[in-house]
Amino acid sequence: MLIDFRELLFGTRDLISQQVELEMNTINNGVSSYDIVKKEPFELCLTKVGKGKFHISAKSFVRLRIPCDRCLEPVDTDVDFVIDESVDMAEASEDEESEEKDYIDGYNLDVDKLVFSEILLSMPRKILCKEDCKGLCLVCGANLNIAECGCDRSVLDPRMSVFKDILNDFKEV
Ligand SMILES: [Zn+2]
Ligand SMILES: [Zn+2]
Repeated sequence: MLIDFRELLFGTRDLISQQVELEMNTINNGVSSYDIVKKEPFELCLTKVGKGKFHISAKSFVRLRIPCDRCLEPVDTDVDFVIDESVDMAEASEDEESEEKDYIDGYNLDVDKLVFSEILLSMPRKILCKEDCKGLCLVCGANLNIAECGCDRSVLDPRMSVFKDILNDFKEV
């Protein structure tokens, strides 16, 4: 969705307040792609603060379907985002390399691009389906939250074998 802000720069308006909606249905961070399973229209405000300068503010959330870090089961996660950006058109045209302002295209503001980078910044570092998720069996790949598969996983974990040696040493004494 594009918002034309010429009125703000050249017209008499000092404020553009508009209900906006995201068009995107996935968030792709370059490594993984997450489905947006819920989004709501929200209010976007552009406030003129000087000649060729305005401020953008908005606040909303998206619900993303992100796999659990341990067992890979999808976890629907609400990601709140806050838009709090200042735009100086004089600066934007001078500085061709400023990637931050890629959401400004001529005299249009691209809502999806603006929100996309905020969502990336607001995404949780760690996603767990539950605090004590047991994860996947390293041998057979079974989801250990559902059932214990009975595999001997100790051989695969070198830290565990060191631990076992120590235990054996204790026994021998
Ligand atoms: Zn899990
Ligand atoms: Zn197993």
